Amino acid sequence: MTNLQLSVVIPVYNEEDGLQALFDRLYPALDKLGITYEILFVNDGSRDRSAAILREQFQQRPDVTRVILFNGNFGQHMAIMAAFEQSRGQRIVTLDADLQNPPEDTELLLAKMDEGHDYVGSIRRQRNDSLWRHVASRAMNGLREKITRIKMTDQGCMFRAYDRRIIDAVNSCHEVSTFIPALAYSFARNPAEVVVGHDERTAGESKYSLYSLIRLNFDLMTGFSLVPLQMFSMLGMLISLFSGVFFVFLAVRRLIVGPEAEGLFTLFALMFFLIGIALFGIGLLGEYIGRIYQQVRHRPRYLVEAILEKRDE
Ligand code: UDP
Ligand code: MG
Repeated sequence: MTNLQLSVVIPVYNEEDGLQALFDRLYPALDKLGITYEILFVNDGSRDRSAAILREQFQQRPDVTRVILFNGNFGQHMAIMAAFEQSRGQRIVTLDADLQNPPEDTELLLAKMDEGHDYVGSIRRQRNDSLWRHVASRAMNGLREKITRIKMTDQGCMFRAYDRRIIDAVNSCHEVSTFIPALAYSFARNPAEVVVGHDERTAGESKYSLYSLIRLNFDLMTGFSLVPLQMFSMLGMLISLFSGVFFVFLAVRRLIVGPEAEGLFTLFALMFFLIGIALFGIGLLGEYIGRIYQQVRHRPRYLVEAILEKRDE
């Protein structure tokens, strides 16, 4: 085992405009901590100059910099997974490349770990995101807490610190679609949270559209809980019960009142309602089946093109 104290993991996707600013703050902040560290950048198939910039930075500080270059865009979480597998530090901190979380606050996370916590999440002090992002993430946080047993005040914040033990456990999972803070949380013995700063993106724009945010939340919900599926069976049961009673009512009415043609539209309305429910159910099944499908294929989850690092002598 190495005696490296800290690995900082940073996924990078089309961040050419912001990377220099990140280097300028990150390296001094970590140097100041006075511990042995490494920074693992993962270029997630950027289509801009990010890879070249990372290469240059590697040449500047080969002692503490390692760069993993992906072959294509496999997503932020896969990028972090790859870095976890390569990481050597006793503690691992994940950080976004966009400087929305101040790298100087790494100190806060580590101080909390010194108190004996093996997982330190973070809460953004004041969020500088657009209103709809704010509202949407509040709603998702609430829902997630109800249906999974994962308690995270601020799920959207990737600035977190993990103990080596947790990372080893995460590395032993071969999940295809996952949400790392939640996965790691499920292995944590003594999780804690600290408040960190939060700024606007320094450069570039958010890589998450509304669509990918919705996808991410599906990963989170279905990846860690069967409640959506179970809820649906409960709903289906209630509805079949109700339709059963309704059918008996109609049959009795047919015997007493005789045949009636009125109420046709009520019937239509009911039918559309039921079709809607059925479609939703099929979709929900699809969510799980899709994951099973991906999982059983055992495809490599990401492809590494090259790793830039100093060779151990
Ligand atoms: N990212 C990545 N691959 C992707 C999308 C994003 O590696 O496919 C990286 C991105 O470069 C950044 C981090 O993940 O370092 C978070 O992305 P972003 O800041 O766009 O997300 P937001 O803060 O808007 O949630
Ligand atoms: Mg960001």
